Amino acid sequence: MSGPNTNFDPVEVAALDPAAIDEAVAQALAAAAAATSLEELKAARTTHQGDRAALALANREIGALPPSAKAEAGKRVGQARGRVAQAYAARQAELEAERDERILVEEAIDVTLPTGRRPLGRRHPTELMSQRIADVFVGMGWEIAEGPEVEAEWFNFDALNFDADHPARQMQDTFYVDPPETGLVLRTHTSPVQARALLERGVPLYIACLGRVFRTDELDATHMPAFHQVEGLAVDKGITMANLRGTLDRLAAELFGEGITTRLRPSYFPFTEPSAEMDLRCFVCRGEDPACRTCKGTGWIEWGGCGMVNQNVLRACGVDPEIYSGFAFGMGIDRALMFRTGVSDMRDMIEGDVRFNAQFGMEI
Ligand SMILES: [Zn+2]
Repeated sequence: MSGPNTNFDPVEVAALDPAAIDEAVAQALAAAAAATSLEELKAARTTHQGDRAALALANREIGALPPSAKAEAGKRVGQARGRVAQAYAARQAELEAERDERILVEEAIDVTLPTGRRPLGRRHPTELMSQRIADVFVGMGWEIAEGPEVEAEWFNFDALNFDADHPARQMQDTFYVDPPETGLVLRTHTSPVQARALLERGVPLYIACLGRVFRTDELDATHMPAFHQVEGLAVDKGITMANLRGTLDRLAAELFGEGITTRLRPSYFPFTEPSAEMDLRCFVCRGEDPACRTCKGTGWIEWGGCGMVNQNVLRACGVDPEIYSGFAFGMGIDRALMFRTGVSDMRDMIEGDVRFNAQFGMEI
C-alpha cells in the first residue's frame, strides 16, 4: 500500500498517488486520441511517454519507496505505463493506416492516360546486315579492312587493271572530285581496299571490306547513287577457285541458312581472271517452286561477282604471282538486304524513317 508517508517529499509522493497516476493516464490517452496526424502523435508521445512525463517521473520514484511499498507502486505505475504504451501503439497504427490510404488516393496512377512515350531508336538494317557479314568473316579468321570513300583514281581503277579507256571510268558512271587534277573519285566499289591492304599489309592476306560506294545512278526503287558493298580478298600460297567456292558457300549458309550454296557463271571483270558471276541458291524455295517470287522460279538469285585475282593486280601491289595466288569477290549489301527481308523499294532504306528500321528489331 502506498499512502501518505512523511519520510518522502510531498511532491514525489504526489506523483505516486493513485489518483495522480490515473489522471496522468487519462491525459495521455486523451492526447493520443486527439492527435490527428503522426506528427501530433509524436509530440504527444514525447509529453506523456518521454523522460519528463508524469508516469516516467512516478516510475523513477518507486526506487525511493520502502521495500514494502515498492511492489504495489511498481505494479500500478507499470500497468499505467502499459496502458499508455498500448494506446499510443494503437493510435499510431490507426494514423499510419489513414496516411497509407490517403497516399494511395493522392498518388494513384491512371494507367489509361496517354503518355509522352518516346519510341526507341533502332539500328539500320543495312548496318545490321553488314555486321552479320563481318561476323561471318571474323569467325573464319579473316580481318576487316577499311579504306577511304574519297579514293585516288589510281586505287579505284589503275591498280585494279582497268584500262585508261574502260567505260566504268566515264563521267556518267563515276563521281569525280573537282578539280579533275586532284585525281580523286568517290570510290565506285570497295575493291580499292584490296589494293591498299595488299600494299600496306602484304601477304598472306585474308580481308573483308564493307562500306559505302558511289555511282551516278538515279535514285529509284532498285538503284541508289550511294550503296553498300562487301568485298573479300584472300591471297596466299596455293589458293584456288575451290577455296573461293568454299568461302562463298560458307557465307551463304551463315546468312541464308544451312544447305544454301552458290553457283558460278563465267564472266569478265578487269581485276579477276578467270572471273565469275555468282548466284545464290534461292533460300525461299531452294529451287523447287517454279512460282517462287524471290527467285522468279529460276531457283537462283544473282548475288555478286568473283574470281581469281588478276596477276596484273598482284604485280601492281608488289606481290609475286608466281608464288602467290588469290581470290576476290564482291556483293551488294543493300541488294542482299532486299531479297533477304523482302524490302521492295531501296528508297525506304535511305529515308531514315525509324518505322522502317523498327521492323528489323534490335539485333545486336
Ligand atoms: Zn525461289
